[in-house]
Formats: sequence, C-alpha cells, structure tokens
Amino acid sequence: MTLTHGDLTTFYIGGDRVAPSGSQTIPVISPATEQPFAAIPDADSADVDRAVAAARQAFDHGDWPRLTPQDRAAVMIRLAEEFEKRSEAVASTLTAEMGCPITVSRQAQVPGGVDLLRYYATLADSFDFEQRRPTYDAANSALEVVVRKDPIGVVAAIVPWNGPYFTLMMKVGPALLSGCTMVIKPSPEASLSFAAFAEAVEAAGVPPGVVNIITGGAEAGQRLVTHPQVDKVAFTGSTEVGRRIAGMCAALLRPVTLELGGKSAAILLDDADVESAVDELLVWLLFAAGQCCVAPSRILASRSRYNEVVDAVVSAMERVPFGDPNDPAVVVGPLATASQRDRVLAHYRQGVREGAKVALGGGQPAQFGTGWYVEKTVFRDVDNAMTIAQEEIFGPACSITPYTDVEDAIRIANDSRFGLAGSVWTSDLDTGYRVASRLRAGGLGVNNHRLDCASPIAGFRESGIGVERGIEAIDEYVETKGILVPR
Ligand code: NAD
Repeated sequence: MTLTHGDLTTFYIGGDRVAPSGSQTIPVISPATEQPFAAIPDADSADVDRAVAAARQAFDHGDWPRLTPQDRAAVMIRLAEEFEKRSEAVASTLTAEMGCPITVSRQAQVPGGVDLLRYYATLADSFDFEQRRPTYDAANSALEVVVRKDPIGVVAAIVPWNGPYFTLMMKVGPALLSGCTMVIKPSPEASLSFAAFAEAVEAAGVPPGVVNIITGGAEAGQRLVTHPQVDKVAFTGSTEVGRRIAGMCAALLRPVTLELGGKSAAILLDDADVESAVDELLVWLLFAAGQCCVAPSRILASRSRYNEVVDAVVSAMERVPFGDPNDPAVVVGPLATASQRDRVLAHYRQGVREGAKVALGGGQPAQFGTGWYVEKTVFRDVDNAMTIAQEEIFGPACSITPYTDVEDAIRIANDSRFGLAGSVWTSDLDTGYRVASRLRAGGLGVNNHRLDCASPIAGFRESGIGVERGIEAIDEYVETKGILVPR
C-alpha cells in the first residue's frame, strides 16, 4: 500500500502514474486542525487532454466496449474487492482531508461505494442491452427491430467531497457495465484517497485507459466538461455549479446527468412513532456533519404533536457525540472547509433574524481551540418561507415546521425549489405510501429515510436532471439504436 496522508504527486492515466505537466498544486487543509498537511496536483489543459485521450483510445480501439456485460461485470466485482481491501486507508485519508468522523468513513463512505459496484455487476444479465421486437408498419412485415443500447462513450465524472465514493460509484457502476470509459475528477477537498482507488483499479485488472483519474479545482473540471472528445458528463455537486455545467453542456449538445442540492422534508404524521423516526432521521441529518444532499433538513410536525417532536429531536441530537473526527466514538465532526463553516453560521444568524427560535445550538462551539466546528442546531417555529427552510444549509441543522393537516404537510413539503428526497412516518402504511407518492422528490421512503442501490433517485426541479441508482441509471450511459433486420 503506497498511500499515506502526504502529497499526491501523480494522476492515473492510461494505467500509469503520470506526473502533472505543470507545477500548480492545491493545498489540503485539515478541517480539525486548520493546518495544511498535503497537496494535490491541479490538472492543466495538457493533463486533461492526456486523460481524455487515454479514455478515448480505450473506448475507440480497446476491448472494453466490445466485451460482454458479463465479462465487464467480472472486472467490476474484482474492482469492488480490491477497493474493499483498501477501505481502511481510504477511510482514514477521507477523515484527514474532509473531516468525516472515522467510524462514518469506515461504516458508510467506503461500503456505500463497494455495494454500488457489486450491485451494478449483478445487472449484467437483467439489463436489456439488446432486445428484439416485431415491426408495426404493414410495409415492414418481413423485418424485425433490434434495439441496441450501446455505450455512450467517454464519460467525464465530477464528484463532490461529502460522499466521494457513493457519488462516484453511482456513475462508475452503470458506466463500466455499459462499456463506457471514464475520466474522473474528485473534489480538491477529497482527492488524496483517490490514490488508493487508482491502486484498486490497477490491481483489479481494469484495462488501461478505461478509468483515468485527475485532480484539480473548478478550472480543471470546466476543461473536462467542455473537452471536445468527451461524450457525456455526469456531475454531482452544488446546484450553482450544476447550473453552470448544464449551460456548457447545452451549448455543446452534450448529454449530462446532474445530481445537485436538496432540502428534503420528513413528514411525521399524527400516528408516527416519533422516537424511532427521529433516531433514523438523525443518521442522515448528521451524516458528514450534515453535509449530506439527502439530509431531512426540514422536519414537518402536526400542531397537535409539535412540542413533543421538537423535544424528541433536541434531546436525541444533544446526545450525538460531537468532536475530533479521529475519535471512533464521534459521530459529528467539523465541516469540510472554512468557507463552509462561515456559510453555515451565516444561515444560523439569518434564521434568528427571520424569526426562527433556536431550540439547540445555533452558533460556534466554545470547546474547540481549532477546527471548522459548528454546533448541532435545531430551529423551531420555522415558517417554510424562511431562508433556513428554503436554502440548503449543508451543516448539522434542521428546522421543524408545524402543519395543520395532511394536505398542508404535502403542500409545505413540495414548496421548495429542490426535490431530492423525503420521507413519511406513520403507523398506517397505505396512507404513508399515498402521501409519499404525492411528494415531488426523487428518493422517498415510508417509515425510513434511506438510500438503496436498487432504488432510483432522480432530482426534481433544481435538485438535478437524470437518474442515479437502480437499473434505470444504466440508460444514462447508453445510446439507443434501432436496427431493422430481415426476419
Ligand atoms: P461543488 O459544486 O462546489 O463542487 C463539486 C465538484 O465540481 C468538485 O469536484 C469541483 O471541483 C467541481 N467544480 C466546481 N466548479 C466547477 C466548474 N465550473 N466546472 C466543472 N467542475 C466544477 O459542490 P461541493 O461543495 O463539492 O459539494 C456539495 C454539494 O453537492 C451540495 O450542494 C450537495 O447537496 C451536492 N451533492 C448532491 C448529491 C446528490 O446526489 N444529489 C450528492 C452529494 C452532494
């Protein structure tokens, strides 16, 4: 294992460790100590060209797109195994670079990615890469239709720092199964651990050029998105950057999948088991210190049980261990960057200015000398029109909004520019399903607020375009062809 928490000095291109063409680097700063401890290379246009050329070569002239899905799936299983072998190195590096508590890095960040790779490998036999059907036009009765789903080509995959491996494998899984090749650019705040991922790619025998990894910031990402030899862009990140990428792809008529921000609602109906609902909601609300796209950051409680719900959330949240991300007992650590900390604190202040009441936290904790910590925070008496109920805070915070009846709860849940996830909590499963079906969000649950590899999630409105997870995501990585052939 070559991985350390030291500098990353190379890219992974065409199956080789390749030195950057320039000398530009980006420092990696510890969210817990605020000290720089490593650096990553910032890819320039020559580096992006080399990575895309390697992916292009592997797609146009290599075996990968021409293997059977079953053969590609076998490589993906090996990749999952090799990545899993490196899980401790990946977890500890992620904790060092973006501050995710070590237990969460071990139990969620890495296994979440491994499961997605294995899941997509299982779909080799069930996805219809080729299908035959009868013709319809009378004049074509001597013909039949072959529908082929061929790989779309070279995929540029750009991912954020909060959940770098599950956001990545939602792309790698369907892209590799379909026969695409890829250039991956992680976020500068979570790039160091990609050295271990490159090792896994190599050890698994993924053919050279099929998976290429470069590091860098926004400019490197933009060069990749607009590179003339890229066929498709798959992006996970903020709505703001997603909007910019959508514009670039529109000008190029380039297919793009966007998984963006969220402001997900959890509706606690009157007959909900509040305690178990709150226990599960906090897992996602506090994942990576609340830097979680599907966080149930808006909890909706009926007026009749409002105080009970507020008390349950406050007392459960108070108990969640908070502090040094290297401590295995800690569940909530610091935020990933100083600007993220400042943004979250600005939201806390805005909430108070607009009339929300702080039921827990609301500021910067006094007990830490250094580190980008913010307090776990619960706002009560939140009107859904307030900024804290409309904007993604991306910190360990939730707002609790009262509703009058079920229709009012549905209206409030849907009153958002986002539409990523949501959940309904009730002892009447039929009602729960009926209410969940009316929510305008892509990933929903009844008496759970979870993700599953097999359950598709598609951002409504400003939460994105296209589907990730589930067999449906494979369609984002193929082009559909109809070939009329004699019967
Ligand atoms: P971000 O948008 O700032 O950056 C995401 C990635 O895009 C990074 O790799 C970054 O280097 C790159 N990038 C930045 N500017 C670019 C440009 N102009 N062109 C090309 N690439 C560019 O997001 P972030 O702060 O890293 O992540 C947090 C955001 O991600 C939150 O809004 C969160 O909700 C969202 N997110 C969404 C999902 C989902 O599945 N919907 C999952 C995780 C995170």
